[in-house]
Amino acid sequence: MASQIQANAQKKNAEYASNFKEGHLALPPAKKYAVVTCMDARIDPAAAYGINLGDAHVIRNAGGNARDALRSLVISEQLLGTNEILLIKHTGCGMLTFKNEDAHSVVAKNLGAAGQQELSGLDFQPFPDLDKAVEDDVKYLKASKAIPDSITVSGWVYDVETGKLKLLV
Ligand SMILES: [Zn+2]
Repeated sequence: MASQIQANAQKKNAEYASNFKEGHLALPPAKKYAVVTCMDARIDPAAAYGINLGDAHVIRNAGGNARDALRSLVISEQLLGTNEILLIKHTGCGMLTFKNEDAHSVVAKNLGAAGQQELSGLDFQPFPDLDKAVEDDVKYLKASKAIPDSITVSGWVYDVETGKLKLLV
């Protein structure tokens, strides 16, 4: 039997599909840009950042992390024609709340030796300073040989309490 979450997805999708009229959209993003942002449940990228269906790639991960997103960004740019990146982190991010050693000790406690082994040496990439983390990720992307100089990169902070988006760098 489907879980409540699964049942909800089925029910809501049936409603969505019954009114769906966007099947004609092309694969490459119409506005040729990619957004990297956090997986945080309080962020609605389409609404908060003004992204219409078919406009842009939205790459989400813990922290809106540029290194994590690199594989997708290269595919976005080299195979699907995007030429601009918006890197958007946010206030109150979970990545501000722990250090690598904290994450590794939770892993050891909850997942046991095998889990610990599999994740040993993993950098969870938490950050203590939000603005600096945005600046560092923008620097990383601009310095990366995988991201050509022709790609425009900007760094932003989204405030989960006010809904406001601020261009930082
Ligand atoms: Zn976050």
